[in-house]
Amino acid sequence: MTTLAITELLGDGIGPELCAAVHAIAATLPLDIAFEPVDLSLERRRREAGAAYDQVVASLGRTKLGIKYPTVTADESPNAVLRTRLGLSVIHRPVHSIPGIASKFKEKLDLEIVRVATGGTYDDPGQRIGPDVAVSLRIVERRPCTEAARFAFELARRNGLSVTSSSKHTIQRATDGFFEAIVRDVAAEFPDVPHRVELFDALLAKICLRPRDFAVVLTLNEYGDFLSDMACGLTGSMGLGASGNYSFTSSGEIDVALFDPAGGTAPDIAGHGVCNPTAALLAFALLLEHARHAALAAALRAAILGAIAAGERTRDVGGALDTLEFTARVRDALGKSLP
Ligand code: ATP
Repeated sequence: MTTLAITELLGDGIGPELCAAVHAIAATLPLDIAFEPVDLSLERRRREAGAAYDQVVASLGRTKLGIKYPTVTADESPNAVLRTRLGLSVIHRPVHSIPGIASKFKEKLDLEIVRVATGGTYDDPGQRIGPDVAVSLRIVERRPCTEAARFAFELARRNGLSVTSSSKHTIQRATDGFFEAIVRDVAAEFPDVPHRVELFDALLAKICLRPRDFAVVLTLNEYGDFLSDMACGLTGSMGLGASGNYSFTSSGEIDVALFDPAGGTAPDIAGHGVCNPTAALLAFALLLEHARHAALAAALRAAILGAIAAGERTRDVGGALDTLEFTARVRDALGKSLP
């Protein structure tokens, strides 16, 4: 059996409890997994931030595969530092309705949001020009747009889905127009994948009205940020999702893939053993899928969703189980479904 080496970025708050849940699940898989832990806790970053990030970069340079637990944003934003240090340019955020999780939205939602992870309005905090005016730069670059578009079309092709690219290209003609032109060029390489363009404001309304019309949605940075939160709100599960963050080689192949659960460090419940590990386990499922263990990823996802649908829930989603109990239910279901 070949060894699957995974860098794990240990953080703060509930991080250790989420990490224990992932290890419990990893131990039941028919895989030889070698975790390479890197301490990214605030305490270490305060002591030796440079060494901590250098260690992350070195480890991921070897493994190319990582999982990151929540970190406190204090002196710096670890996510922003990692994005720059690792050149992460694309974020994939699946958002699916979870049967058993209460939501005001009654339709089924199955979105694969693919977002350019850099630029847009987020790289420039802007500046005041005199007392009454402020300006900021909006940055759209060919390379991350091309990488995001290729990622989206490949994802759609693998899963028999369509791609909707969305922006405000009729108003932001230079920037969003450039983005849509890049997407059109990439779409031409994927004639078998249906592609359409929606204005972003219309897209938000249409997803609420007819969510089944949308599958892979490809956007620039800030639109993807807004859409991800709106979609999570619709499913009633802000903290239950996970994302993949990717960097690419100069020839366009995925280089480093780093997966992380949604949600923060939850300091109010950290150390009590009651946090919900669903997002961390879904991040691990995304990691397995990327590492070409699609069947194991699907089995893990089914075990997580099956447990929730059967009423096995932690307190934050209306149940009574603690972290270990919920993880054990998932592990048992997974164990039964594996050959
Ligand atoms: P941070 O500053 O790291 O973002 P925060 O407490 O401001 O931390 P979250 O960590 O997202 O933000 O927590 C918001 C609320 O959701 C808290 O009450 C927290 O306990 C709860 N929460 C977050 N993650 C989980 C989880 N995995 N399981 C259960 N509750 C959670």
